[in-house]
Amino acid sequence: MKIGAYIQVPFCQTKCTYCNFHTGVVSRERYGPYADAVCREIAEAKARELGGDRAAEIDTVYFGGGTPSLLEPAALRKILDALRGGFGFARGGEPEITLEADPETITGEKAAAWLAAGFNRVSLGVQSFSDRELKAAGRMHRRADIFTAADTLRAAGFRNISMDLIAGLAHQTRVSWEESVGRLAEVRPEHVSIYMLEIDEGSHLGKESLAGGSRYSAGAIPSDDAIADAYEWSRVALRAAGYEHYEISNWGLPGFRSRHNLKYWRREPYLGFGAGAHSFDGVKRWANLHDSARYAANIEQGISTREQEQVVRREEALEEELFLGLRQLEGVDLARIENLYGVDLTARVTELCEQGLVELHGAQLKLAPDRLSVSNGVLVELLS
Ligand code: SF4
Repeated sequence: MKIGAYIQVPFCQTKCTYCNFHTGVVSRERYGPYADAVCREIAEAKARELGGDRAAEIDTVYFGGGTPSLLEPAALRKILDALRGGFGFARGGEPEITLEADPETITGEKAAAWLAAGFNRVSLGVQSFSDRELKAAGRMHRRADIFTAADTLRAAGFRNISMDLIAGLAHQTRVSWEESVGRLAEVRPEHVSIYMLEIDEGSHLGKESLAGGSRYSAGAIPSDDAIADAYEWSRVALRAAGYEHYEISNWGLPGFRSRHNLKYWRREPYLGFGAGAHSFDGVKRWANLHDSARYAANIEQGISTREQEQVVRREEALEEELFLGLRQLEGVDLARIENLYGVDLTARVTELCEQGLVELHGAQLKLAPDRLSVSNGVLVELLS
């Protein structure tokens, strides 16, 4: 069996204003012991997970966060070695091994060490090419760092770079957004993710939106309509630049779709390691506890780090098939799903087709292209 591996590194240099992730700013001294705990979790997992499936091999690895590039390259390598030793990497095709990195954390030395350790893809949290927006969002890097980071990675030998942008940052205008997408297309990463800002109550922005204030520029967030327009504009611009739109938030040059993330949308198995990491073995889902100090202490003492474990019931699996599968622009095979789950979705699908929310091409069900920016609402309709 081919599986994905996700490594969560929940540390950051600062807290971005829009962030709702379980990440923290901690002393650098905690990085090394945390990496050791992840290695130990991996070593102990092999026997336990996937029913002890000895044939399980890893074909994608994704280090996410947080800011995994804050860990020393030697610590990152140790974790990769633990995966290689514990599970083995799939033969017959190079595994895709991604490291998320913030542009300002990249040096030529680090990039060379990452490549030597086995990483072959770097995902850069670019977010914007406007210094004003980056500053207001609490990011540590500036526009110039993005160009330097891309040049450094290319010079080191990386041939697969992804860049994220956020539509809807404070102070963003249509002009600044077009500038960001335009500059990104010029840098020409192989893969692009565009997220529409959602303000979570737990973030600095969310709290300021509720309580008032100006410290985080909540009042300068563009309207929902402006954000949706920015997203639509990027769809056209990226297509013109040669990118294939394959998932609501993701584009790739031909041959450069994210193999790891495709596993999530296709409900393929993956194991997550580290504080807060999620796993799915095809039957059940589980997650590690979020607190990184408790996580490391539990691993040290041989205590389980699992916070939740849940067998996915049949009706939940059906919802996942639709909710996750329809995020892909190619859609889902409705006949396959109906057969697999013994359901007839004809009436519901016909109704939604008439409302223009989804389209049926043969047996292939897709979200309507002009509803991608409001996909969550459409998916909720479909499942209701
Ligand atoms: S770098 Fe990412 S994870 Fe860290 S605070 Fe910013 S948005 Fe959150």
